[in-house]
Amino acid sequence: MIANVVDAAGPATIAELGERVLAGGLISRAEALELFALERPADIFDLLSWANRIREKFKGNKIHLCSIVNAKAGACSENCRFCAQSSFYQTGSPKYGFVDPEPVAEAADEANRNGVTAVGLVAAWKGLTEGPMLDEVCARVRELKATGKTRPDVSLGIIKSQRVADRLKEAGVECYGHNLESSRRFFPQTCSTHTYDDRLETIGYLKNAGIKICSGGIIGMGEAREDRCDLAFALKDLGANVVPVNILNPIPGTPFEKNDPLPVLEILKTIACFRFILPRQEIMIAGGRTVNLRDAQSLIFMAGASALMVGNYLTTLNQPVEKDLQMLKDLGLDPTWDKHGFSDQENGGGGCAAPAEPAGAKA
Ligand code: SF4
Repeated sequence: MIANVVDAAGPATIAELGERVLAGGLISRAEALELFALERPADIFDLLSWANRIREKFKGNKIHLCSIVNAKAGACSENCRFCAQSSFYQTGSPKYGFVDPEPVAEAADEANRNGVTAVGLVAAWKGLTEGPMLDEVCARVRELKATGKTRPDVSLGIIKSQRVADRLKEAGVECYGHNLESSRRFFPQTCSTHTYDDRLETIGYLKNAGIKICSGGIIGMGEAREDRCDLAFALKDLGANVVPVNILNPIPGTPFEKNDPLPVLEILKTIACFRFILPRQEIMIAGGRTVNLRDAQSLIFMAGASALMVGNYLTTLNQPVEKDLQMLKDLGLDPTWDKHGFSDQENGGGGCAAPAEPAGAKA
């Protein structure tokens, strides 16, 4: 027997909103919430189809690939409840200090071989202040940039001064990963050692320095659809260039270890709603893709995704890059994104390496 589900929006509403976004218009929060409320699979697939058209209109058939290096692992002072690298939880995650030049050079080689636009150095710590560690970070960024093989991006946590952001810019950082994680309302349930406003302040310094912003969040932490919707609008307001969507991969030992996984259609619908709200942004599917979407991974592009985190995540494995490249080829999508640049930024689009997993000081 089929459940009698009443959707907030039907095919006519989806089409009307889809046409509007395709024509360059915007949807309101109330309209977006109607899309988030869709339940019937047929309606959700309708939504995906429109999100696919919007992606094609604003992003063409190009898919931007990013990878990351866990540049400083574990023993983090923060208590982000999703994160294997927090010192508050026993997870068995590796711990080591800031990365030497060799692994970074290897990551650049691998990125170059696979046509990956950027390599992001991600550090598990609260943030970065002026001092020897900032000098070392800048040295690694310069080395990575000097290879000419990839774009050096970073995700280094909270910044409390304009000078730090300026130094990173001078070293060659073009894009900084710093997630909002969720809505302002839900954020306190994800972390109590720093605040949503700490994150917004950091993003302000980075933007002042002329650094592009890669900021998104994690879905599946127990937040409501309304929180996902508000996250998307907050990212729109702050002008994120790239929006990574992570899907919680519950790590044993963390407070979210027993979270129920989100249904696949709920994940795809969320990506599609993000595309309706953020038509020109680079929407990147990052951590938790393989484990949560399994055989449905390729549907993320139909749902509106235009970027992909490839290679392993910070503390968990991804499927092999070759498999991702084959998936793109099979779908007629082109991963040969503009060489390390931001050529589609002029129209309000985005493109940079991003934090991948819901971990790391992209915090
Ligand atoms: S998400 Fe980042 S800041 Fe939070 S615990 Fe993990 S490494 Fe630390």
